[in-house]
This record gives sequence, C-alpha cells and structure tokens, in this order.
Amino acid sequence: MKLVLGLEIHIQVNAKHKMFCGCLADIWQAEPNSHTCPTCLGLPGALPVPNFEAVQKAHKLGMVLNCVINTNSHFDRKHYFYPDLPKGYQISQYKEPLCGRGCLELNSGYCVDIERVHLEEDTAKSFHADGKTLIDFNKSGIALIEIVTAPCFGQVTDAVEFCKKVQDIARVCDVSDADMEKGNMRLEANISLRTAEMEQAGILPTYKVEVKNINSFRFMEKAVLFELNRQTELFDSGQTPKQENRGWDEKKQGTVSQRTKEEAHDYRYFPDPDIPPLHFSSEYIAKLKQSLPELPHQLKTRLVKDYGLKPASAEFFVSGLGIELVPKFERVAMLTNDPVGTANVLINKAGLRTSSSEDLAKEVVQKRSSHTLTVSELTEVVSKVIVANPEVVANYKGGKESALQFLVGQCMRETQGKADPRTIIDLLKQTV
Ligand SMILES: [Zn+2]
Repeated sequence: MKLVLGLEIHIQVNAKHKMFCGCLADIWQAEPNSHTCPTCLGLPGALPVPNFEAVQKAHKLGMVLNCVINTNSHFDRKHYFYPDLPKGYQISQYKEPLCGRGCLELNSGYCVDIERVHLEEDTAKSFHADGKTLIDFNKSGIALIEIVTAPCFGQVTDAVEFCKKVQDIARVCDVSDADMEKGNMRLEANISLRTAEMEQAGILPTYKVEVKNINSFRFMEKAVLFELNRQTELFDSGQTPKQENRGWDEKKQGTVSQRTKEEAHDYRYFPDPDIPPLHFSSEYIAKLKQSLPELPHQLKTRLVKDYGLKPASAEFFVSGLGIELVPKFERVAMLTNDPVGTANVLINKAGLRTSSSEDLAKEVVQKRSSHTLTVSELTEVVSKVIVANPEVVANYKGGKESALQFLVGQCMRETQGKADPRTIIDLLKQTV
C-alpha cells in the first residue's frame, strides 16, 4: 500500500491586533481572559472589522508560496458547536479564499501542490480540571492563516521538509514567529493508503484519517509512520480504516481516536453578512509583491555568488536557526574580509554564535593564522594570479618593483590572508 498525505498548516499571524477586534494579539504569558472584548467573546451585537495588517501578511505568505492572489475574496461563517467557540461559528474563508492554488519546490525539485491559503480567527482555549472546563478567551479571535495542500505527499520526509520551509518563510517575511512550542504553528496531517494500481490511475482513497494539533515536526513524522502501520494492518486483516479524527499521544507513542466522522462534516458555510466582501486592486498586489524580503532560495544564491560559500554552507544560513545568524555573518565577514572562515566558525562552533561580532572576528582571524597552506596549494594560487594579470607581470619583468607588491596582494586575497607573504614572494620570483 502507498501513503497518501495532505497537510493543513495553521499559522498565528504576528499582527498587533486580533483578526476582527482591537484587542492586542500578543497574549504570551498574559493573565487568562485579559485580552478580550465583546467581539472576541462572541457577545450578541458585536461587529467584526477585518484587520488589514493580517490580510497583508496572509497575502505575503501566499505570494511566496506562488499562489494565485484572488482579487475578490470574502469571509464565511463555519458552523460547529464547541465550548471554545462562543458564537457557534468560526469566521473563516470557504469559497473565495485570499489566495488560491500555488506550489513550493522542495530541495529534490518536487513541487508541493498547494490548494489554498486563507485567513480565519483562532478559537479560545479550554482547560479541563476537577471535572470542570475552564475557558481562556485570550486566544479567541487571533488571526490565523491556514495553508492547505493537496494530498500530494507520498513520503513523510517531503512533508516535514515542506513544513520547515513554510516555517522559515513565515519568519523571514515577518508573518509569524511560527514557534511550535508556543502554538504559533500547528500541523494537521490527513493520512490514508491506496494500492499501487490506484496510484497509477490517480485514484484517491475513499477515507482519510485526520491527525490534529501536531505541535512538532518529530511528532508529525512519528504520527504518520504510526498510521502507516496501523492502516496497513487493518487492510491486511480485510478491513478499511474508519474516517476519523485522531490525536498524537506522546506517552502512548501512537495516535488515539478522538471523533469518528461518519461522513464529511456539514459546516453550513455561508458568507458572513457582517463583513463586506474584499476587493484587491492589481496596484495593491504589485506593490505588496515588491515589498517582499529576500527569500531563503534567493539568499542562498547570493551567499554562494557574493561570498563564495559552498552550497552546503549556504544551506545552513537559509534554514532554521541559521537564518537569524545572517546579519552577524555579513558583519563579521566584512570585518575579517574572510566570509568562508566566518561561515565555518558560525557553523561549527555553536557556542560562539551568541558572541559579539568583534569577538567572532577575532576568533576567525586567529583560526586563519593557525592554518597554513601547503606549498603546492600556494603554487597553484600564484600561477592563477600570474595568468590573470599578464600586464602587471610584464611591468615587474620590466623592472617595476611595485608590481610585485600588487601580485602579492592578489595572492593574499585569493588565500583570504592565510598565506605567509615571504613564501608568496619567493614563489612569485621563481615562477615569473
Ligand atoms: Zn477582542
């Protein structure tokens, strides 16, 4: 049996205010129910007003994911009953999301098929203690971006790489902190299996198991592999897995059933009559596109081209924690005139990453002086410089001593200062 995996990624937007009210959205470690108002408490008569900052941030993410930016969009009500949803519906998007189809290329060249990127409001948070349920409404109404992929993953490693790339993009574009431990980014995996014949014919399975609220990449990998085994065993014993919601239980090291879905949920979507439809001009879209920052793949090209880093080293600075080190890398590379040495220190010495740029520069210079190049390495450099500067060589041969100094300087540059100048002079004199 072959794995069929689709993802839904929820990302809390780092906008100043909540999605439809003026409450501050930074609720980290705030007193429960201290960031609330009639709108995000769902009180009757309170009117939602969309937050344009959140709309722009969702558009930015959609643009980087190469999505179609819809010029017309609107918000819908998605009805379901749950204590953390006081209105009895969530304001979300169904028929006209902000962004339509898109794609993102993985390192292997495989393109992830993105169905949509839309904006909605987060729910409140419930706590269960002593047989009672307590609700904190601070999270209620925070702007939430949802990215939905097609069931296009056949391997869990591709799904993990995609999620990591989305996290990097969200951070680089200042859309979200995307901190999974704080719940800024949550994953949902839709998992099912099909036969090789179905795969060839492009037929999707008739059921899917949704694993909800996964808060780490590792848990997602474990949950998918667990489901792969569980569902394979069911098929082997002649059964078809049930359409249901399951959750990852770290203690049990497995997924557990939460809610069986007899058929697709009827959310009774309809346009929210309190919020007018949204229209976006081509000027607005073009301007926002221009404001996008340098993206990870563009940064990688620049690090290789401008700084001479190897692609593997550049990869370190365009993913995960490495992204935050880029400004420091650029400062120290300038101070030391040694980008490769700077990159090596930052990559290999994790303990030095928090040091000041000046201390790092000292370390880079020290490391450089302790590394001496072999004579054959130097001979190669000297030959290269001679070939590249025929006029200067001719001047030197004609008796111009200062020409030699220039050639020595070029050799020092080539070796990023790692060579002994006296050896260079000897080698130059021998070769010219
Ligand atoms: Zn509010």
